[in-house]
Order: sequence, then C-alpha cells, then structure tokens
Amino acid sequence: MLLNDPVTLLFIIIPFGLMTTLMLCLSYVGTSDHRAPLHWWIAGDLVLAVYRAVDLLQPGVVAPEYDWLGILSPQTAFIANTAGLLLAIGCHTLALHQLSDQRCNVQWHARTLLAPVLIYGIGASALLHNEYMLSWFFLFCVITIGIQFYVTWPLRKRFRGAWALLTGHVALLIFHAHSTVILTLEPPPPLSFDEPDMFSLPALAMDFMVSFLFTLSFALMLQEQLRQQVVQLSITDTLTGALNRRGAVSTILQERRQNGPQRYPLSVAMIDLDNFKRINDQHGHAAGDTALQVFASTVTRLIRKDDIFVRWGGEEFLLVFPGTDIAQAQGFMSRLREALNSEQPTPSLPLPIGFSAGLAQTSSMNSREDFEALLRSVDKALYRAKRVRGRVEVVEAVDL
Ligand code: GH3
Ligand code: MG
Ligand code: MG
Repeated sequence: MLLNDPVTLLFIIIPFGLMTTLMLCLSYVGTSDHRAPLHWWIAGDLVLAVYRAVDLLQPGVVAPEYDWLGILSPQTAFIANTAGLLLAIGCHTLALHQLSDQRCNVQWHARTLLAPVLIYGIGASALLHNEYMLSWFFLFCVITIGIQFYVTWPLRKRFRGAWALLTGHVALLIFHAHSTVILTLEPPPPLSFDEPDMFSLPALAMDFMVSFLFTLSFALMLQEQLRQQVVQLSITDTLTGALNRRGAVSTILQERRQNGPQRYPLSVAMIDLDNFKRINDQHGHAAGDTALQVFASTVTRLIRKDDIFVRWGGEEFLLVFPGTDIAQAQGFMSRLREALNSEQPTPSLPLPIGFSAGLAQTSSMNSREDFEALLRSVDKALYRAKRVRGRVEVVEAVDL
C-alpha cells in the first residue's frame, strides 16, 4: 500500500515530471534519428506515471476525505497496474532497441508493445483468482526486468550509460525479491491513516529513484549516441561513404594501437582514377559522381572488415591492409580491376573505370611521421604508375 495522503501524488508528479522534462529538453538538441528513441522513452515514462497513479484509485488507499478517488476494485487496479507496467517496459524496450541501430518496422513495434500485454492477458484470469497476488507481481517483475536486461546487454559496448541501466536492473530485481519475501512471511498490518505507512515510504522512494536513474542513464546514452553520430559524420565522405582524410590518420593509428605487431606486414595503396576528367567533360559531373560511387561500392564489397578505405581527395583513394603483404595486396588490386571491368556501361556511367596505384608494405608503423613517410613513398610510386596508367607500381624499400 502507498502513502495515505496527497503527498503520494506529489511523489508521483515530481519524479515523473522531472523525467519527462529532462527528456523533452533533450529533444531540442537532437537530430531526427535521435528523437524516435526519445519519444518512445517519454511514452514509457508517462505510462509509468499512470501505472503509479492507478494505485491511488482503490478505496481505502487514500485518506477518507479523498474517498471519491476509490473507483477501482483491488483486482481491477492490480490488472490495470501490471498491464501499465508491461506497456511501459514495451515502450522503453523499443527506445533501447532503436538506440542499438536496429531497424524497427511497424510489425516490430506492434510485437514489442503488444507481446508483454498479451502474455499478461493470458495470465489475467489466473490473477483474478489469486488472493494475495504478490507472487504474480514478482513473476511479472522478473519477466519485465529480464526483457530490459536482455535488450540493454548489447548496448554496453557502445554506451557507458548502459552499465548504469544494467546495474539498476539487478538492484531492482534484488529489491523486488526482498520485498516479496518479507511481505509473504509477514503481511503488512491494515493501514492506519493516522500514521504514515513506514514500509511503503522507503519502497516508494527507492522505486522512483530507480526510475529516475533509468531515465537519466537513457538520456546519457542518447547524448553519447549523438556525439558518436557527429564524430562519424565529421570523418565520413558524403558522396562515397568512405572515410575522409580527417578520419584517416586517427583511424589508422588507432588500428595500429589495437592490433600492434601481430598484424604486420601492413600494406598501403594510393589509387588515382585514370582519365577521370574525361568522364566529367564528356558526360557531365553527375556521371563523374556516379563513377566515384561505383568505385567506392566495389572497393567496399571486396575489402575485409578491418581494411581501411579513405577518399583522400577528388578521385584519389587510400587503402590500408593490416596483416597483408605486397603479393596479397597486388592480388586485391587485380580483383578490383576485374570487378570494375565487369561493370556494364549504363546511361549514367557510360565509360569503364580504370585506375593507377602505388603500393608499399611496412613492418613498423607506429606514429604519424611513419605514416606520412609511407605515404610519400606510395605517392612517388603512383606518380610512376601514372606515366603509363592502368598499372600498379610497388615501392621496393620504404625508408621510414
Ligand atoms: P589522370 O589519369 O592523369 O589521373 O587524369 P585525370 O583526368 O583523372 O586527372 P586529374 O586527377 O587531374 O583530375 C581529377 C578530376 O576529378 C578533376 C576534378 O574536377 C574531378 N573531381 C574531383 N572531385 C570530384 C567529385 O567529387 N565529383 C566529380 N564529378 N568530379 C570530381
Ligand atoms: Mg586521375
Ligand atoms: Mg587525381
């Protein structure tokens, strides 16, 4: 049972008001990608607020002067309450799923929102015949907390805030288990409206604090996602989707720091498309853009996950192959040329795409200076290749 006067209402209004305000403030700083999960979380918070308020609508929960509030029987209130909790969990689950970049279609939305309520519906008749209902409530807590934990678990790698959410779920589970055991062993005495209900006060405070912390950690995760999106945009080339020059050096050095000596030799190729001006001059800039996109998508299809692909500028591209020697890198260049030659001419891309490249391998690249020295070497090789075009020139010895 809850507190016995309108203080309870304040308990409900203040934390949920804070939660909703926090999330609404966030919606002013986000992108449209950012708003969809935000709105689902707000919906969940609002449903949670209603779920709390339903408790007050039973006769005998509030003081006699607020008797007119008691419009629901305990059973109806319990069913509405639990269904509300599950719906809120559904909304929050959707929000978390959207943070994990999953594509959520209409069916997915419907399933996530309705499945918990349907599961509940099946159990509802059993609930109506269960006098004490406490063990049922605990069962639903375990199910809902389990669902949320499952959805949040993969997010821990991307967002630090996910750990707060996971820890909160474990704390909530322990808390519910503890209360269930205590209440089962020792049912609370009937309410006396002259004294505050000392059992429910800390319980209520704990419940609200956890809800608020959940919303706060979700807000932190949204901020983190927004930051990641901004960083990603700042290092990505819009036309081709490859890394741009700004992102290249940091990504390459980070890869070196992570993989270190076990991924040597490392090969680097600088590629320049041949006679590209001709495509632009004869068929227009749009055809030139299409050629760049076709080239980039062909490369992306052929490279491995940890190879690094950069649009160095204009129609020049840089490729970094960790754990690859010159012979293997040359093999890649041949496959790329074959794939580009097999492209059928289309009205938007009437000419085949050819390229020249400079290629080098190294067994130590630890700093920006090493990388720049390597680049100078492959650049010279590319320059030699350009004298005839359609060739790959290899740097014999890289002087770092
Ligand atoms: P070469 O075989 O010697 O490399 O000849 P090229 O015609 O490719 O010569 P160059 O490298 O000098 O020309 C690059 C051209 O690429 C010039 C520039 O207008 C064009 N270009 C650069 N960026 C873009 C782009 O984003 N879109 C389009 N359509 N053209 C671009
Ligand atoms: Mg060129
Ligand atoms: Mg060029």
